[in-house]
Amino acid sequence: MSDDCIFCSIVDGEIPARIVHETDDVVAFLDANPLARGHTLVIPKTHAQHVGDLDDDLAAALFAAVTELTPHVQSTVGADGANVGINDGEAAGQEVPHAHVHIIPRFEGDGGAPLHAVGGERPDLSDDELDAVADAIAE
Ligand code: AMP
Ligand code: ZN
Repeated sequence: MSDDCIFCSIVDGEIPARIVHETDDVVAFLDANPLARGHTLVIPKTHAQHVGDLDDDLAAALFAAVTELTPHVQSTVGADGANVGINDGEAAGQEVPHAHVHIIPRFEGDGGAPLHAVGGERPDLSDDELDAVADAIAE
């Protein structure tokens, strides 16, 4: 629990939310300002800002809830697909500093964009640069 964290307050029942799924480790609720009908947030109950801060068991529980909920939310609202994503860090647009996974149902012709649209200007990387980045990450 972190003071002043709105999602911790939801976990603790201090502020209301439209909860759609809950286990010992995670809770899922409707986004209060949805990008689409059925827009759902899945969060760990333990406070952590970044996905990299989650321990393995909690990360597994979070992803298990996401894989279970995504097709369920999608079929419930009659969507044709879904974008599943995380804004990790302020630079990536994270506004609530408690890790959360967005499940955003998508409908044919809804005018939205793929996850590729979140990036800024594309870097022009040579093969050598790509090799170096891959090597550095893999190290
Ligand atoms: P992000 O930019 O990834 O941090 O997104 C935070 C999301 O949380 C936004 O889509 C908000 O609409 C949503 N949100 C903020 N406060 C609440 C709340 N009290 N209940 C449900 N969703 C919320
Ligand atoms: Zn929190």
